[in-house]
Amino acid sequence: MTHHADVLVVGGGVIGLTSALELAACGHRVRVIDRQAVGQESSWAGAGMIPPGDLVSGLMPFHHLSVRSSELWPELVSRLQEMTGLDSEYIRDGALHLSAPGDEATAEQSVTAWNESGVPAELKQGQELPSLDHRLELLEQAVCYLPTAAQVRNPKHLQALLAACRQLNVAFHENHEVQRFERGGDRLEVVHAGEEQFRADQIVIATGAWTGELASLLDLEFPVFPVRGQINQYRLSHPLPHVIERGKQYLVPRRDGVLLVGSTEEHVGFDRSEHPASIQKLHDFACSLLPELRTQQPERQWSGFRPVSADGLPIMGRSVELQNVVIASGHYRAGLSLSPVTGEIVRQLVRGESVEVDLKLFAPERFSSVARQN
Ligand SMILES: Cc1cc2nc3c(=O)[nH]c(=O)nc-3n(C[C@H](O)[C@H](O)[C@H](O)COP(=O)(O)OP(=O)(O)OC[C@H]3O[C@@H](n4cnc5c(N)ncnc54)[C@H](O)[C@@H]3O)c2cc1C
Repeated sequence: MTHHADVLVVGGGVIGLTSALELAACGHRVRVIDRQAVGQESSWAGAGMIPPGDLVSGLMPFHHLSVRSSELWPELVSRLQEMTGLDSEYIRDGALHLSAPGDEATAEQSVTAWNESGVPAELKQGQELPSLDHRLELLEQAVCYLPTAAQVRNPKHLQALLAACRQLNVAFHENHEVQRFERGGDRLEVVHAGEEQFRADQIVIATGAWTGELASLLDLEFPVFPVRGQINQYRLSHPLPHVIERGKQYLVPRRDGVLLVGSTEEHVGFDRSEHPASIQKLHDFACSLLPELRTQQPERQWSGFRPVSADGLPIMGRSVELQNVVIASGHYRAGLSLSPVTGEIVRQLVRGESVEVDLKLFAPERFSSVARQN
């Protein structure tokens, strides 16, 4: 059977679902195809932290992308709640950044850097954080506090996105793995998934860590690889008031007392097996900050595959080889936080609107052999 659409979105993670929502809201007939139930991969597994910007990459366009996305979150979640009654549990509860061993920048320098980039940041001492002072070790040192950092409960957010998409008549084809494509000149004509065929004016590729594999079916180069991250879950009788980060490790407190402790970076391909050493490493980290966890074991743990591109930056833009294909992938550690701005960019690209964000740094052609030959 052949299905037709204005836009076909391949991949139903947070990037694909947000893109589908934005396009359907503008009146396009959208179909989403996923090889399993949507929203089960990295987007489900992530911790849901939404930083107010990015100073890690040292790249201002990436910082601006992150700032823009952080600004879009409140409107997106209230729109979803109005449409569906579902709460994504978005909270702007701030984040404390503790210096990690080997950090060159002191808390004072971090505060200055954030403020200079336009993001509010404050220097805090333990006694200025009375709700944490007696619970958290290491608070004798000054810490950098980002009051506009936020978090979202990603499994709930995915449910809200899915429900809103359904209300806007987005058609879902779950358990359909894209296995083959038919090209016609500089267009992608047919997408094959099992016995089904899909034709669309425009096709959005949002297949996360599997984008490299999918692109190779098209003879395109989109070097995107999985970086596995594990999370331990605990339960606290009194939730912590803020997200707490120390280097690449963090504590993310949900409102109901659930505490997520993440995360690892493991280059193990698509290996889903449990790694006890990683679970222990996260446990040791959590106990080093929060002594009350020393008497607990994680009640649950899981892992997910972050999609990382060869240069660590997202790939967002129209393919130079295939004129009706838009790529939105490679968001690495920031795919949840960057999903609103990515949905906006995909909508603008598909509809031929001007894109406000400077996309040069994220252009798909930076990896393309066609571009390299020119
Ligand atoms: C432990 C961990 C913690 C994280 N914490 C955060 C955080 O705090 N903040 C943040 O912003 N980000 C975080 N991230 C990163 C974030 O989760 C990802 O960047 C984001 O989810 C990527 O979304 P996606 O839609 O591109 O990919 P995914 O959610 O992986 O979705 C890709 C979809 O494509 C489908 N697919 C793949 N191949 C095919 C095919 N051939 N045919 C059909 N469908 C296909 C898959 O089934 C899947 O549903 C974290 C990630 C992990 C693992």
